[in-house]
Amino acid sequence: MALIVKKFGGSSVADAQRVFNVANIIINDYKKGNDVIVVVSAQGDTTDDLIEKAEEINPAGASKREMDMLLSAGEQISIALLAMAIEKLGCPVISLLGWQAGFNTDSHHSIARIKNLNTERIRNEIAKKNIVVVAGFQGINKYDDITTLGRGGSDTSAVAIAASMNADLCQIYTDVDGVYTADPRKVDTARKMDEIAYDEMLELATLGAQVLNNRSVEMAKKYNVELEVLSSLENKPGTKVKETVKMEKTLIRGVAKDSNVARISVVGLEDTPGVAFKIFNKIAQYKINVDIILQSVGRDSTKDITFTVPRDQGKLAVEAIESIKGGLNYKDIVVEEDVAKISVVGAGMESHPGVASKMFEALYDAGINIQMISTSEIKISVLIDAKYADKAVKVVHDAFIG
Ligand code: ASP
Ligand code: MG
Repeated sequence: MALIVKKFGGSSVADAQRVFNVANIIINDYKKGNDVIVVVSAQGDTTDDLIEKAEEINPAGASKREMDMLLSAGEQISIALLAMAIEKLGCPVISLLGWQAGFNTDSHHSIARIKNLNTERIRNEIAKKNIVVVAGFQGINKYDDITTLGRGGSDTSAVAIAASMNADLCQIYTDVDGVYTADPRKVDTARKMDEIAYDEMLELATLGAQVLNNRSVEMAKKYNVELEVLSSLENKPGTKVKETVKMEKTLIRGVAKDSNVARISVVGLEDTPGVAFKIFNKIAQYKINVDIILQSVGRDSTKDITFTVPRDQGKLAVEAIESIKGGLNYKDIVVEEDVAKISVVGAGMESHPGVASKMFEALYDAGINIQMISTSEIKISVLIDAKYADKAVKVVHDAFIG
């Protein structure tokens, strides 16, 4: 007998048939004598539809408190429907909203963080032999207002429950059957991984391999919760996400593409101390995430600073720099949105030289120019022209894995 936490994403509960499919997966574990806690997301595109409804009312942007009130309704619908299905199939079940399940969060509406999870109610229901179905993505703040954890936050809800309840298993069900070495829709030689380390998954999640929410992986790493990503539509093992994994023949775990990038160049800056500080201090005040940074020094005692930001923050970054134009001498700001970031990720590269050169060679052979490069212990990223992004993923994947 085990304590199992199972999380089902929106596509897994999109309609009545899928709800029953999920109910059967849950009951199958329950009938074997396990305690089962389930976390669900809103059905299908419900969250996006609710956002559209809000935009009809206030296109300039409703308050975040009211957005949370609205969006949390999506999960309320799916927990009730799933509980009804389990009921109909003859098993004892109870659905709980985030606050009923003990999710106390801070007050940052729309991106709230879990402060603590009071598991008393969940424990009582488990003791009564109920299957417990919890609304993901939501909690309550100290003013008793409903909060949400940010898009994709149900993964984090599930990991939080698994950590607090010391669960034996935390399974994240989705509509793909695991984590792949590259996007399988674009790269036909992409393989499903049996396992991946937390740190590698974090890099891949940030880089746009959208299977697991980043925060949930951070939390899983912190509390050492082993995750399994698997399909709710096919009954087969998925990908395990854990602390350390055996390295297979390849040193590279996966290749990812991130198209949500803009490159900003501040050209003809004075080459004096404090210039980079002034720019990035302002950028930080505007809460813009900077990724790759490059500085190049010209001959006429000027320099250029180029950096990347999420594409939707590009205009804001320009605004931020223009706001300090008076204290900063530069000739021009150039924004380029037709760029993409391609990264290879793998814990094995730490101890193996030559990964960078192999990646650059693959790009060179394909005639793809590299605009910027950045590296960490387990990742090498390059910025390239967006139109070559898919080709780049393919040739790099072929070089290491395919
Ligand atoms: N329903 C929310 C969203 O679409 C939370 C989640 O799916 O995890 O972002
Ligand atoms: Mg989701």
